[in-house]
Amino acid sequence: MTLPTRGMRRAMMTAAVGDDVLGEDPSVRELEERAAELMGKEAGLFVASGTMANQLAAMTFCQRGDEVIVAEGSHIFNLEVGGLAALHGLQARPLPTSRGVFPLEALAEAMRPSALQVAGTRLLCLENTFDLNHGYTVSGDAMRAMARTAHARGIPVYLDGARIFNAASALQTSPADLAASVDAAMFCLSKGLACPVGSILVGETAFIAKARRNRQRLGGGWRQAGVLAAAGLVALAEMVGRVADDNHLARRLAESLARVGFELAPGDCETNIVFVPTPPGVPAVVFASRMASKGVRVKVIGTNSCRMVVHKDVSERDLKAIVRAAVAAIRVHME
Ligand SMILES: *Cc1c(COP(=O)(O)O)cnc(C)c1O
Repeated sequence: MTLPTRGMRRAMMTAAVGDDVLGEDPSVRELEERAAELMGKEAGLFVASGTMANQLAAMTFCQRGDEVIVAEGSHIFNLEVGGLAALHGLQARPLPTSRGVFPLEALAEAMRPSALQVAGTRLLCLENTFDLNHGYTVSGDAMRAMARTAHARGIPVYLDGARIFNAASALQTSPADLAASVDAAMFCLSKGLACPVGSILVGETAFIAKARRNRQRLGGGWRQAGVLAAAGLVALAEMVGRVADDNHLARRLAESLARVGFELAPGDCETNIVFVPTPPGVPAVVFASRMASKGVRVKVIGTNSCRMVVHKDVSERDLKAIVRAAVAAIRVHME
């Protein structure tokens, strides 16, 4: 939903570019370096999407026939078109989590060495914020404990940090701290950072070199991608620092909706995503279309649930209008 800022448009227009397949695009190189630094890792790789970053990570860490532990509610398991199986011949092992935190004992038990009849566990995937319909934060301590459990068995850990800056802000820590215990991670420049396109995979230099080759294999080598990287550089300089505003406004939106009768606990809104149950008599599709008629786009999640996402194009001034539209959308039905 986010639109690029004027600064991004300007930077894209004047970006220095070169052939990134040959490693000669200065804007891409700068973006990859800054992103790696921000995440506390050695190197970065600019890719087309979060999905591509996740798939490249799995492809680079694993071999066909390996098993990958994922959270039941994760993006990589639910919303990537079965890529783990379809592209890389990997077996996903989904486990339940408590808001993105695997119970350590169950996690340890699920990790298996390969044997004659067993596909060995080759990767643990974490996600922070967790669950794109809720945006829960996973604390640095929880991240470290899960990573320790995997590392003790020689299993690397990958973090899908599509919205890591929202998590870091809410937890009052740095993205590097949240990623400190994992071997590789990604974050999205689109989403809350408002770039038109792109995500970044970060990790050790050797891992990123291997991932770069895999990206090429997938046809993801992009020539003068500096035009897009230029927007990413603006995002790192100007947008990362303001996601706290989105988190705060989302919490206030949740509080306002709870006050006017929506059955939600504002404390469950930890970042910029508000999960909104609709009343029994108002199906989510009806609610969403009524909201849309007032210019508020919400995403239908289930029969009676939607999500609202606060971002840089939603202002303090919009808050009242959103709540008013929501009240009207459930009142119409009752009359
Ligand atoms: C959006 C998202 C992705 C995928 O990013 P795309 O750029 O849409 O492919 C992956 N993981 C999480 C948690 C996300 O929210």
